[in-house]
This record gives sequence, structure tokens and C-alpha cells, in this order.
Amino acid sequence: MERPAAPTPDDPIHPLEKDFSTEEDFLQPVVEPRFEGDRLQPIHPTYPAAAASAPFGTRSHDRPLAPGLYLVATPIGNLEDITLRALRVLRSVDRIACEDTRQTSKLLGHFGIRTPTVSYHAHNENSRASELIDALKAGGRIAVVSDAGMPGIADPGATIAAEAIAAGVTVFPIPGANAALSALIASGLNAERFTFHGFLPSKEGQRRSTLEALAQARAAHSSPLRHAIDATPTTHIFYETPHRILDALADIVATFGPHHRIALARELTKLHEEFLRGTAADLLASLRARPSIRGEMVLLIDDAPAIAASDPNTKPITLAEEVATLIRTESLSEKDALKRVAKSRSISKSEAYRELQRSPSHKR
Ligand code: SAM
Repeated sequence: MERPAAPTPDDPIHPLEKDFSTEEDFLQPVVEPRFEGDRLQPIHPTYPAAAASAPFGTRSHDRPLAPGLYLVATPIGNLEDITLRALRVLRSVDRIACEDTRQTSKLLGHFGIRTPTVSYHAHNENSRASELIDALKAGGRIAVVSDAGMPGIADPGATIAAEAIAAGVTVFPIPGANAALSALIASGLNAERFTFHGFLPSKEGQRRSTLEALAQARAAHSSPLRHAIDATPTTHIFYETPHRILDALADIVATFGPHHRIALARELTKLHEEFLRGTAADLLASLRARPSIRGEMVLLIDDAPAIAASDPNTKPITLAEEVATLIRTESLSEKDALKRVAKSRSISKSEAYRELQRSPSHKR
């Protein structure tokens, strides 16, 4: 492999590092982070005076921000979780569309950013989106932020992104904090496959039926026919509020059972961050015993196959058992049942046949 050219005093950014960003035309400040003890102090970037007016074709960080819509993730509690790129974008755009301008002004004030803000929330999403799209079509640079985390994730942002795309405007994601994924990766539950459901329904009946449907889908994992349907376990992630969490946990106990494995992530990235991991009944009892329940929370429900979870000594269902079940329940011939099982296990028919012949339970 050819070695990249060494950086020079005129071009101090290593060529490989330049490729790191997909959005190359942003204004890059001179950032001087300060450390006191082991804590990163607020960063107050300063800009080269000529940066805004520098012609294109000079160093990439001297160029102005590219026109387009910037969906900027903001911290979900800990202000250190904002990225350098997010700060640079927020400082450089023409306008920041905020879910709540008062909330965002605290963040901007902390980092010394004085970009004008405009409100963009659930109640004016449609009218404000068309106004912002007009400005974007005219070559504007607009950032969208929610109160916390990623815009568009249980927050406004997706509508304007779709409208911008339809209008031919470039949309840049500026990644960062998100409560659902932060909770998932430290939950101890399966993070290979997960389903984000947003908030659990607030009405009791709807919440119960949502959980019942998921519990029933999970039962399919232990069915002998599980290979024939897409029943790959997926961790369920919900946002929940402190005043509804006891009811939600009681419903999980009733639908999934008291021994079902769940996790609750509370106050992520904040001073009182807490993870509760255990059975649904244990978590319910533990929260019920508290004098008060506060904070923001993410609820995660395990979806591992019931057989494995309830009895680690239980043997997996064999091919012969699966064939026998199909013959019995769907009145298939042995040949057709074998064909179906071979397909669902992604093995050849002859391989399935040989395995069936080897099975001690198979009648010769
Ligand atoms: N857009 C945000 C994101 O990317 O995570 C989510 C916004 S949603 C309106 C707010 C909900 O997210 C809260 O009610 C809570 O369930 C969850 N949440 C946000 N911040 C959190 C935190 N620090 N700890 C735990 N959950 C949090």
C-alpha cells in the first residue's frame, strides 16, 4: 500500500484524516480544549478572521459551510457529549431550527454560540418546514436540533429531512448522543438485532395490547416451526416516563411473565445515571419500594427464545422433531416436510434426508 504523503506546515492535516468527513466544506475552527483535573472544560473555539471570506480551493477547514440541511445531535444530559463537528456546524449555519428555543439557547450559551434560532416543533412542523425549505432552496444552511439527542428520533426532524430530500436539498446527519442506543449497548441484552418502538402507548389498553403482541411473537421463537418464519429474537427498546413506569412494568409481568429479563436505563450520561437489570418482577418490586421515581428512562425487553431462557439444559428441537411436527400439524407428506425444513435451515434436501435417517427417533 502506498504511504500517504507526510503533512507539511502549509497543509497540516494528514491526507487520510481529510477523508474522515463526508461533508468537506465546513468551516473548521481553531479549537483549544482545556483540561482541568480529568474533566474537559467548555470549549470556546476561535476562528481565523479571514475564514468566512476565504476563497474555495484553499485548505478545506478555511472554506465556508456547504449549503444544506444539518440534522445535529445534541447531548442527552452530559454537555461533553456534543461533538466538535456539531459545534462547528451550529456556529456556522445561518439559522438553527429548535424544538424549543429556550432549551437550545442554554446549550448555545454554554458554548458561546450566537447563531440565530427559530422554533420548529410538533405544532408548527408543517408550516415552518415549508418556510425553511424555501430558505434552503435559495442556498441556505440550516441546522435542526431537538431538545436532546438525535432530531427525528421520537422528536421533530424526520418531516423536514424528507421534504428537503424531495426538494433536492442536501441533508447532512451530524451524529451524536441518542438515548435508545446508549441504553442498549450497556444493557447486557442482545444488541445484534433490536427494535426501537418510541414511547409505549400511554393508554392502558393500548399498552397492554402492544406488549401482548410482542409476547406472542416471542412465543414463536420456541415453536418447532421457528425456522419457517422470521422469528429472529430482537431486543425491544421503549422510551418511558417516570409516572408510567410502574404500570408498564406491571404489564410486562402480566404479558411476558415475572421471570422475563428486562433492563431499565435511567438518567443516561448524567450524574445519577443508573442501570437496573433483572427480571420484570424484580425491577417492579425495586421501583415500587422507592419513595419516588424520577428521571428520564429507557426500557428494554429481552426477546431471547423461551426455551433457552427458562431451561439451559433443554435440547434444541431436532430436524426429525421438526419434520414430525409439520407432518402432524400441516398434514404434509414426509418428503414435503423435509423439503420445507431443508429450506428453512438453508441446507440441501439430501443433507436434510441424511440427518433424518441418522435420527434415532426416525422409523426406518
Ligand atoms: N431524540 C432523543 C434521542 O435521540 O434519544 C429522544 C427524545 S424523546 C422526546 C425523550 C425520551 O428519550 C425521554 O422521555 C426518555 O425516555 C429518553 N431519554 C432522553 N434522554 C435520556 C437520558 N438521559 N436517559 C434516559 N432516557 C433518556
